[in-house]
Amino acid sequence: MPTTAISLPQFEAACRAHGVRVTVQRRRIFEAICDRTDHPTPDQVYAAVKDTLPGVSRTTVYRVLDTLGRLGVLAKACSPTATTRVDPRTHRHHHLVCQRCDLLVDVDDAAVTHQIRPPDVRRLRFTIADYSIYFTGLCAACQQQDSAGRLAPRRARKRQTAKARSPAARARG
Ligand SMILES: [Zn+2]
Ligand SMILES: [Zn+2]
Repeated sequence: MPTTAISLPQFEAACRAHGVRVTVQRRRIFEAICDRTDHPTPDQVYAAVKDTLPGVSRTTVYRVLDTLGRLGVLAKACSPTATTRVDPRTHRHHHLVCQRCDLLVDVDDAAVTHQIRPPDVRRLRFTIADYSIYFTGLCAACQQQDSAGRLAPRRARKRQTAKARSPAARARG
């Protein structure tokens, strides 16, 4: 099971530490994302909160997500379509990414992290702070769609045969 995200008290503490007020909007948006494991897009976060936060604009949601990112209570994950995905898990973890439907799933495998030795980039005068690995491929649903697609031509042929027969039937009638 993936480790849970930051708790509400931790969120409030992070706000206080950065001199950021815990407004209703910020709290609701945090609550809307902290239990999600599907790495929603900012638009999906907006859709989730707009009914409980009357008058909230898309821009406000984007701004709050930015603030939460700066506070370190959420992270941003990548996706193949370059859409920003909100990730309430800020500890080091990795992801499975479906190349077709953009499904983004957490992988909390300590063994992966232990196998990785970050490259020596001192020559580039770069300091590595963290890393995350994306394993790309096809999710179960997309694989199933593929195998269903392989069966489809046979079904289509059958339908065509049935249609070809019907004019004759009509002519007889
Ligand atoms: Zn998929
Ligand atoms: Zn994640």
